[in-house]
Amino acid sequence: MTPDPLPATGAVSGVLTPALRAELAALYGQVPATACASSGECCALTDAEYAGTFATMFPVYRVEYLNLVDHVRQSFPALEGERLLQFTEERPRRCPFLSAANRCTAYAARPLICRTYGVLDRAAIDAAAQNLRGDRPAAWVDGFVRRESGMTCPRVRVLEPAKVARHVANLVDFVYERELTRLSQDLELADPERHALFARVSGDQAWPVRWTWGGFNAVRHAPLEWLRDQFDAYWEQAWLIDLG
Ligand code: SF4
Repeated sequence: MTPDPLPATGAVSGVLTPALRAELAALYGQVPATACASSGECCALTDAEYAGTFATMFPVYRVEYLNLVDHVRQSFPALEGERLLQFTEERPRRCPFLSAANRCTAYAARPLICRTYGVLDRAAIDAAAQNLRGDRPAAWVDGFVRRESGMTCPRVRVLEPAKVARHVANLVDFVYERELTRLSQDLELADPERHALFARVSGDQAWPVRWTWGGFNAVRHAPLEWLRDQFDAYWEQAWLIDLG
């Protein structure tokens, strides 16, 4: 398959401006840095997880996706970069950025979901919930406990404990989600022809706020002929999408 020409910086398809990239970096900087055993277990699904509703590297906000695209263009050899950009599986069993040696090849640009994974352990979640009850709506605290309880990992070590309190507040108060949505809102994903194709099939004029690497790639990088002929079928199977 021959990919359509990729637009240059500043074109309609939404390459990040330096200002937007700086805002994203500042937001990511609020997540405590961690070290982990690089087992790769959180980056691939077991049979049971695949049979359920788990997904790797999801959700990815539109601004994060475009940041990853920049990373691929700048950091990968051309062929490997093209393979990654042509990857359209919406829910892969293994993250396409996970190397054979279980290393994250997108580490510098990995999305929020990968940065927050394992930051809080059971004790930290329970302590935070106890502190915040009465101070925040019960549904917010319950949601925080539910989400973070599914993301603990005994192999993750926090390197910046001083950042944990603000990180917890960001999670409970939806600061990360709100900011990533804001940073994504004016970003075009692809040219008008692709946008029109997407709108026809999805019935929605707006680009998705959150999707997966493969889902965004399908709209932005798959050959136009494929988009014209196959996107209806692809869309029918897609379910990891947030149209906002
Ligand atoms: S982007 Fe990196 S950390 Fe995130 S799931 Fe993929 S390999 Fe793992």
